[in-house]
Amino acid sequence: METSLENVELDVIIVGGGMSGIAAAQQLLQNGVNNILVLEAQDYLGGRIKTIDTEYGHIDLGAEWIHGQTGNPLYDIAVENRLVHNRNQSSYISPSSASIYDVHEFRTENGSLINRNIVCQVSKAMEDLYCESINSAPKECQQNTDIISEIEPFKFDKAISRNFMTKSFATHYSEGFDEYLESCENADYDIQKALYKWRLKWELGDNCCASLDDVAFPGRYIMYEGHGITDLKFGFGSVFDVLKKDIPKQKVALRKPVKVIKWKKRNICYVECFDGSVYKSKHVIVTVPIGYLKDHTTSMFCPSLPDEKVHAIQNVGFSTLVKVFLAWNKPFWCESYSGVQFVWTSDAKQEQLKTEISKQGTRTMLKVDGNPWYLDITGFERCTGRPNVLCGWLVGEGAELSTTLSDIDVSKVCTRLLQCFCGDEAIPEPDNIYRSQWQSNQFIGGGYSYVSTRTQDGDFEALCQSLPSNQNPRLLFAGEATSYNFYSTAHGAYETGIRAARTIITLKQESKETIINL
Ligand SMILES: Cc1cc2nc3c(=O)[nH]c(=O)nc-3n(C[C@H](O)[C@H](O)[C@H](O)COP(=O)(O)OP(=O)(O)OC[C@H]3O[C@@H](n4cnc5c(N)ncnc54)[C@H](O)[C@@H]3O)c2cc1C
Repeated sequence: METSLENVELDVIIVGGGMSGIAAAQQLLQNGVNNILVLEAQDYLGGRIKTIDTEYGHIDLGAEWIHGQTGNPLYDIAVENRLVHNRNQSSYISPSSASIYDVHEFRTENGSLINRNIVCQVSKAMEDLYCESINSAPKECQQNTDIISEIEPFKFDKAISRNFMTKSFATHYSEGFDEYLESCENADYDIQKALYKWRLKWELGDNCCASLDDVAFPGRYIMYEGHGITDLKFGFGSVFDVLKKDIPKQKVALRKPVKVIKWKKRNICYVECFDGSVYKSKHVIVTVPIGYLKDHTTSMFCPSLPDEKVHAIQNVGFSTLVKVFLAWNKPFWCESYSGVQFVWTSDAKQEQLKTEISKQGTRTMLKVDGNPWYLDITGFERCTGRPNVLCGWLVGEGAELSTTLSDIDVSKVCTRLLQCFCGDEAIPEPDNIYRSQWQSNQFIGGGYSYVSTRTQDGDFEALCQSLPSNQNPRLLFAGEATSYNFYSTAHGAYETGIRAARTIITLKQESKETIINL
């Protein structure tokens, strides 16, 4: 199949078969642009959407929840296809992201349960801080609450190029929280500070970054209205499958990592794969993850990308996080349990655990600050519809370090932490462990993008700009990192794929495909 297509002049080649690539393919096909091919490096479609079926139920190693409902195209697809988990069923566990404080237990390393009033007090202080800061930011820096259409071809206007950044997430929170603590008269100072540190760790995961110093505050992210978290009965893969089924098999080539895209040869692009095959087409939509793009900016394009685009790519924040699923044949928790968050309060216990864990023979991977990797586990929560599974989040530097450890080592350490924080030495080791490994996947290289403090005015336009120009788009860019408001999400990725496809469709409809000698 690939060999025959090598000799054909295609209309569109899509590099990458994740959410954005498949959304683009579906949109093109639905609009009569049939002469297309998706080149995917790996042996499956979906990219960072990867649902595996296990004896304990489905496990989402990448995207798991639909964030926001009203206006969210993936939520609509999920509802239409009856894929949404019913919130009223007893097996429903997930909290909306804002209420993790209401339903989870927050415990210290000695197994003490932290008083829920204090937990809620700190949660409220953090939320207030967030809102106050958004509202008091200079007007030009305030988040634009008008959602910028991501599915129509871009018209770059002033709203897009405004400066949205005031300071880093870390600075914003530390200044505000210190002030809050000073104003507190109660005696819970230490525990509040510990909860605050937990929250910062949680933010590392939410923003998928190695340091909150690098995250711009406020970013550009906007949440669609409705529940922040929608669970899917059969995992995120079921939503992706709805799109995938519209793409005929012969329009996809798997195990086809693209090596170089030659994009300035008259009006034709030549796409060369690592196996030596070469395809040609009028347009190429590049949807590879921003992490891959950062590492291959110089080798992947001929001629090289313009300097401003290279800088924009390098300035996007992209780091990692790891999901750790632990499964027991017989759960150790009761039905009403929803999860436990790890709030560290004492250095002494940390030292004791460090010695104990290294005696077990588990490698103690230390972070730059000298602390072990497992301090970056925020806690474990139950998973909707899978009664025997807990999911833990490993964030920041600890997440990176953990990828070099074996499943057995990670499983042992997680069990020891659960024993300490739950105050129950009898908790057995899990019967199975499943971990995401996005960072060590050479075609992904990390989790999802964030707006970095390195971002400069005009970066977003440069990142998304088609080449050689928006008027003559031969090389187009899509993928979650190119979404203005919904970067980091699957629906953001989806919308950018639609946007790239519509740019080409509009061009064709307007018959603007003039022959330009470049
Ligand atoms: C742990 C984790 C949890 C997440 N949770 C959620 C969530 O709950 N909800 C949510 O909305 N989002 C979530 N996300 C984010 C979401 O998964 C992504 O934003 C989205 O799937 C990205 O889609 P994409 O098409 O932009 O990129 P990808 O899915 O990464 O697709 C890009 C494709 O390009 C391919 N590729 C790379 N290099 C080449 C090459 N040289 N040649 C050909 N192909 C190549 C890759 O193999 C990949 O298949 C999560 C992500 C992670 C990592």
